[in-house]
Amino acid sequence: KDTIRLDKYLTEMGEGTRSQIKEMARKGRISVNGVTEKKSERKISPSSDTVAVDGRNVSYVEYEYYMLHKPQGVVSATEDRLHETVVDLITDRKRDDLFPVGRLDIDTEGLLLLTNDGDLTHRLLSPKKHVDKVYYAKIEGMLPEDAKDRMAEGLVLSDGTETLPADLEVVRRGDLSELSEIRLTIHEGKFHQVKRMFETLGCRVVYLKRLSMGTLVLDEALKPGEYRPLTHKELELLK
Ligand code: URA
Repeated sequence: KDTIRLDKYLTEMGEGTRSQIKEMARKGRISVNGVTEKKSERKISPSSDTVAVDGRNVSYVEYEYYMLHKPQGVVSATEDRLHETVVDLITDRKRDDLFPVGRLDIDTEGLLLLTNDGDLTHRLLSPKKHVDKVYYAKIEGMLPEDAKDRMAEGLVLSDGTETLPADLEVVRRGDLSELSEIRLTIHEGKFHQVKRMFETLGCRVVYLKRLSMGTLVLDEALKPGEYRPLTHKELELLK
């Protein structure tokens, strides 16, 4: 049952385009189970066949999952004409169809999951699922005394958007000259949501970092720009 075309297998593993693979096969550079295979459209079984290019085994990976500590200055997209993208940072990826699960602003740092698993992505981003996201922020301007209560009630943003109740933890309350530090847990992901929530309270977010998404917590051993594959446990919990 679990068969796919040889050219699709090799294209997904980044060995070339379909036409390049066809040409490589024609030249006798591709083998299946040690036997040269000249027909790149033939079907193979990724789980039981061994595919090699120029004698080098190419194993098949159907899904990949990476935790990235997104740095500032990089966009949460798969392609961008001006800026480096979060996908560009995953230099060890096997597949060329990874995408970020949700978005962080260009100046936001922190936890970002990259995968090619569309089902998991859908479950994590579905507005119905209310997956918790925890952010750490530095805030300029006086935090209102009742900020926690107002966040807990849900806010109406400047354009009329209503937010779900959010949990504000004031880590350090600054005065007029000092920044405040907070942790905010939200259960949705509207455009610029955290920044706009604080704007509604008359403050400004000057630094924003995502700490977690559902059960997935940013590994503090990762510096901005670094990434690692999810562990089996992290993946099981997330699914
Ligand atoms: N809220 C924001 O305002 N920006 C982000 O990047 C994420 C949440």
